[in-house]
Amino acid sequence: MYASANVIAHPHAELPVPNGDFYDIKGMLTGDERAILEKVRTFNDTKVAPIINDYWVRDAFPFELIEPLKTLDIGRLGIARGGRPLLTGLMAMEFMRTDPSFATFYGVHTGLAMGSIALLGSDEQKAKWLPPMERFEIIGCFGLTEPLVGSGTGGGLLTTAKRDGDSWILNGEKKWIGNATWCDISIIWARDVDDNQVKGFIVENKTTPGFRVEKIENKMALKVVQNGHIIMENCRVPEANRLQNANTFRDTALVLRETRSGVGWAATGIQMGAFELAVRYAQTRLQFGKPIGAFQMMQDLIARMLANLTASQAMMYRLAEIEEAGKLTDQEASLAKAFTTQRMRETVAWARELHGANGILVDSNIGRLFADAEAIYSYEGTFQMQNLIVAKAATGLSAFV
Ligand SMILES: Cc1cc2nc3c(=O)[nH]c(=O)nc-3n(C[C@H](O)[C@H](O)[C@H](O)COP(=O)(O)OP(=O)(O)OC[C@H]3O[C@@H](n4cnc5c(N)ncnc54)[C@H](O)[C@@H]3O)c2cc1C
Repeated sequence: MYASANVIAHPHAELPVPNGDFYDIKGMLTGDERAILEKVRTFNDTKVAPIINDYWVRDAFPFELIEPLKTLDIGRLGIARGGRPLLTGLMAMEFMRTDPSFATFYGVHTGLAMGSIALLGSDEQKAKWLPPMERFEIIGCFGLTEPLVGSGTGGGLLTTAKRDGDSWILNGEKKWIGNATWCDISIIWARDVDDNQVKGFIVENKTTPGFRVEKIENKMALKVVQNGHIIMENCRVPEANRLQNANTFRDTALVLRETRSGVGWAATGIQMGAFELAVRYAQTRLQFGKPIGAFQMMQDLIARMLANLTASQAMMYRLAEIEEAGKLTDQEASLAKAFTTQRMRETVAWARELHGANGILVDSNIGRLFADAEAIYSYEGTFQMQNLIVAKAATGLSAFV
């Protein structure tokens, strides 16, 4: 996958190319879909991989990738536009295989931001916002989490919305919002003080007085994604920018259900990247005069990683079938997010272990995947919250509301 200056070249050119698709899940796509996926892989291999470590250590976003991304013409394929879940999922897996940060930027924009408008906007709102967003001319973010309200967003937001004639006045703070420091529009979720229900608003970041964003500094994961702390002081938003079909938190949860399955694909993609890096390293790193991949204990790690990865892919494949049939439930999406992210944590740790000291270097790529995995484990609902949703469905008993 990547060349590393720290790896000793191995003379056995006949060793297999690392393959993180053991059960040929891509074989379930049509020929046209496989061509799209190939385009995404080439973009990641040739444009993202060579530059991303440098941006990661500098906490900076690679704006130079936006123009090449536009040429892929894939913004119209996401869930927001009714794209086939298996293709959308495998695209997320491909992006994550190379870089979880750039993949997160892509997922927040095409999934959370565009998905909110597609699922909950009026026809006029969809016609106005979605075409430029799918061309990456207008970039969006999704502001749900608050400094004091994380897992408990369903139990009550502190950000408020007050109707005032033809507009709404928003007050409050949002924390951790990916893309917020530089994007064009924010989907902001706020509690209507009159009926106490959660409503969604399209806030135009650059032209709304009282709206400001501070960059969250000093992260140890997903350093390329620019996470913002949004502060809203008497922000006036026109009624035309209120998501017309978002009337309660249950509507917000519809968006999260779709994107949560995307995080399952994300965790699968990180495992794919980690596994392939580990195999390449095991084939080429020599100790005791042999490639370390020839030692039984390293082979055991490789087989365990592949089992985790393949189990995640198989689970996500079935989830995509359920989604395509229009039958996806919260608990099904949550089970997949919880399972794949837990397997991901094991897989990246084993891949890092196999790299020895080089595994802590960002330059070896596995150091970056290892750190980034921690953020994916927690975002879009923690492991505990997913399991509470699953177990509530299984038992009929709720442990949290
Ligand atoms: C890199 C990154 C990007 C993000 N991007 C966005 C974004 O774009 N938009 C957005 O809105 N949010 C975003 N988030 C926020 C993310 O969704 C939240 O961090 C997540 O939902 C958890 O909330 P919290 O961090 O406040 O943890 P808390 O809710 O404070 O939880 C702390 C711990 O308590 C546990 N816990 C909480 N409640 C319970 C319970 N009832 N039972 C058992 N255990 C419990 C949790 O599982 C966790 O282990 C992002 C986060 C990160 C790290």
